[in-house]
Amino acid sequence: MTATAPREEQLWLRCTGCASLLYRKRLRRNLDVCPECGEHARLGAPERLRQLVDPGSLRLLPDRIPEADPIDFVDVLPYPHRLTAARASTGLAEGVVCATAAIGGHPVVLAVMDFRFLGGSLGCAVGELITRAAERALDDRTPLVLVTASGGARMQEGALSLMQMATVSQAIAALREAGLLTVSVLTDPTYGGVAASFATNTDLVLAESGARMGFAGPRVIRQITGRALPEGFQTADFLLRHGQVDMVVQRRSLRGRLVALLAATRAGRPARPPVPRQEPAPRRERLADDGAALVQPVGPAATSAAGDTPAVRDAWDTVRLARHPGRPTTLDYLDSVFDGFVELHGDRLGADCPAVVGGVARLSGRHVMVIGHQKGHTTAELVARNFGMASPAGHRKALRLMRLAARLGLPVITLVDTPGADPGVSAEEQGQAAAIAENILTLTVLPTPVLAVITGEGGSGGALALAVADRVLMLENAVYSVISPEGCAAILWPDRSAAPQAARALRLTAPDLCRLGVVDEVVSEPSSAAHDDPAETADRLRAALLANLLPLLDVPPAMLVRLRRQRFRRFGANRAAARAGLR
Ligand SMILES: [Zn+2]
Repeated sequence: MTATAPREEQLWLRCTGCASLLYRKRLRRNLDVCPECGEHARLGAPERLRQLVDPGSLRLLPDRIPEADPIDFVDVLPYPHRLTAARASTGLAEGVVCATAAIGGHPVVLAVMDFRFLGGSLGCAVGELITRAAERALDDRTPLVLVTASGGARMQEGALSLMQMATVSQAIAALREAGLLTVSVLTDPTYGGVAASFATNTDLVLAESGARMGFAGPRVIRQITGRALPEGFQTADFLLRHGQVDMVVQRRSLRGRLVALLAATRAGRPARPPVPRQEPAPRRERLADDGAALVQPVGPAATSAAGDTPAVRDAWDTVRLARHPGRPTTLDYLDSVFDGFVELHGDRLGADCPAVVGGVARLSGRHVMVIGHQKGHTTAELVARNFGMASPAGHRKALRLMRLAARLGLPVITLVDTPGADPGVSAEEQGQAAAIAENILTLTVLPTPVLAVITGEGGSGGALALAVADRVLMLENAVYSVISPEGCAAILWPDRSAAPQAARALRLTAPDLCRLGVVDEVVSEPSSAAHDDPAETADRLRAALLANLLPLLDVPPAMLVRLRRQRFRRFGANRAAARAGLR
């Protein structure tokens, strides 16, 4: 429909599907589905909740958390201006509305995203609210229903928005462990970081008719492949055909389907009284603080990046160094830092992705599992390795090796160097979003030490798929970002030539990310950069790996997982809240 949030005085709307002029009240009675052509108009979160839950059962969860502008982002407008405008136009505090309610008499916790609010983007506040909703479901021992609508991570919050993919995923992992059902309902559109995390790593994934979901958006894919996209690409029916969703559901049947699924999962399980809740939020706040204290002694104190870095390099220059073709690759490090590498291939589902390499190796005599993105130094090598952009098969190979490592009691070391996950047509057909989402979730529960190093480019969800770790290190001239500077510039600035400004605004350098707590330690490079002295770089990397790995080997696996989760839990708005003394 031409207006998703029509003003009261708008009596008639034109359907975007068939151009019919529709009487507004009639349209609303029909759940905002065109009676002529069946086009499903986008719904705001309040209307979605009204349609799904039992009348009178809705209890909204608190939606106020402190203002978050964690990286002081400014494009052509300061980020707080955009937030204020979104609040004024939607009447919502943030891009998600969370509530407890009943659906067909079954108690649930819901988190419903609203695309009208900055494109439903996932920032720290949205991540925090959804995480709290999941924690509430865990406390109440009820299923969690997520209704997604999002363009992806909120780039104005830089890498901290990327971290929300891990934060929410680990809350979903906790529900899995507790045997509580998680359901995601994909609505139009669901893309990027949301698609590659909690929209697809739930137990059940329903797609509303007309919904489109994917890791990369159609515009990006067209731009990169230079080809027209197949008919119906990324639509709900496409997703069903490619095995990525459990069902496609018309809006009028959605509530009924949820009732049936909720009823089935309650069958056979003895009714358990809800755990009495005693102000859980402050309790968790203290836990997070304890966690921070516990994490510190695990490894050596984080290098003060600012103190270590001789000269502050411009962010855009760092981007160019991170992409330098001479920069050591994962296979180079496997040769120089490790010994006895034995490569293991294949996802066991039909493919072996050349952009991800992995296998067993020794680090100063200790057996480890190493998994990393592989680029190359020449054009031929880069093409053969798909420029280090992993396909779903690459993510599934990595997943297989992570699980194998945990079974064998081997620590996992990941080397991250990718412009991003493969944004191609076949990657989407094979479930790129779900493949990344499953890796992120699995890493939050993996009962073995995980050490990640951003060695070159840490591109968005593709990087995070290998970087949910106990300790995250970063080479001095590496970058780690929610979006490429060029992509960010194309969206928020008048044109792509603003990439250097975007690089500065995104806070993607190692010193910045160390200050933000996204990275624990910066590994300094030889005076000019890694590619000028690969041997010296390898020595420094080996020393940093050992210093960070050895203390982790003494931590019992259950404790490791708990600390890893606390590490990522603190990226929500909690920390800001604690600082502001508002909770
Ligand atoms: Zn229509």
